[in-house]
Amino acid sequence: MDRTDGIRDVVIIGSGPAGYTAALYTARAQLKPLLFGSSIFVGGSLTTTTEVENFPGFPTGVDGPDLMDNMRAQAERFGAEMIDDDIVEVDLTGDIKLLTDSAGTVHRAKTVVIATGSGYRKLGLPNEDELSGRGVSWCATCDGFFFRDRDIVVVGGGDTAMEEATFLTRFARSVTVVHRRSTLRASKAMQNRAFADDKISFAFDSEIAEIKSENGMLAGVVLRDTFTGKTRDLDATGLFIAIGHDPRTELFTGQVDLDDEGYITVESPSTRTNLPGVFAAGDVVDHTYRQAITAAGSGCQSALDAERYLAALS
Ligand code: FAD
Repeated sequence: MDRTDGIRDVVIIGSGPAGYTAALYTARAQLKPLLFGSSIFVGGSLTTTTEVENFPGFPTGVDGPDLMDNMRAQAERFGAEMIDDDIVEVDLTGDIKLLTDSAGTVHRAKTVVIATGSGYRKLGLPNEDELSGRGVSWCATCDGFFFRDRDIVVVGGGDTAMEEATFLTRFARSVTVVHRRSTLRASKAMQNRAFADDKISFAFDSEIAEIKSENGMLAGVVLRDTFTGKTRDLDATGLFIAIGHDPRTELFTGQVDLDDEGYITVESPSTRTNLPGVFAAGDVVDHTYRQAITAAGSGCQSALDAERYLAALS
């Protein structure tokens, strides 16, 4: 096992808007941050989408991967160092934090910013990823606007699914909520709002058996009855999957405090975790907002929190 020389002021794990913003701020504060940005998924969730229309500063929208390349370049301009590799093991409990990369090299740091994001749960159907941004979406706030006058399917039975369905009626011609069971998990208030909406109908005891495509775009779904196994076609040009998300926190389990759903808990409104010198930002702490701009905002906060922590050490 190799150990790098020297102890870094700041190591950041994650290359989404939260990580890159933390890198930009700590680099401009002369803290020479080192960022680990994953070996296979550099740039985070926005690299899986095309047009981003709601990140401020881009009046005509911006391509997701371009936005992330620009964030990275901006942080690098001020001296942030990026390594496209995964951190595979951590010991964050001591004053000096130990982070091991996939080659087995151990990096040492006084502060660590965790910005590992979270992943949307998928249906597990063959062409789901391929149609992401081509009719299939996991985020109504992000993509609802692209679905004006469309027939949309929302999958899920919890609060998020009801919220997405209700929100989408602003744009859609019709919204069909597909749920595997005969009753919803969502709160009574959310259910009542959805039931009262003329544009929303429900397909209970049903699951998506197949996603149909035509010319590389979503062209409908096949529903399967969960009792009889019978299938039927449902026309739709939008499919919103709202069956939950999983924060990427396995690496930190047993060290950093997590809530019941596996998200890192912080001393809100700061980004401080239960461990001194360890900060967390972006979707890995956020059940609620889950937007690029909120992730970038909390990445900035984590950098300022780390700066203050380091200043108090000296
Ligand atoms: P992420 O962007 O998820 O980045 C985390 C990064 O950390 C990933 O690259 C991951 O691989 C890396 N990582 C994880 N573990 C490790 C490790 N152990 N070592 C090294 N690296 C690690 N938001 C909007 O505001 N507008 C939109 O239009 C929009 N569209 C979206 C479209 C899609 C398809 C998706 C999936 C999301 C969209 N979002 C949008 C949401 C937005 O992308 C997220 O809210 C935002 O990217 C969260 O940023 P983050 O930095 O917290 O995490």
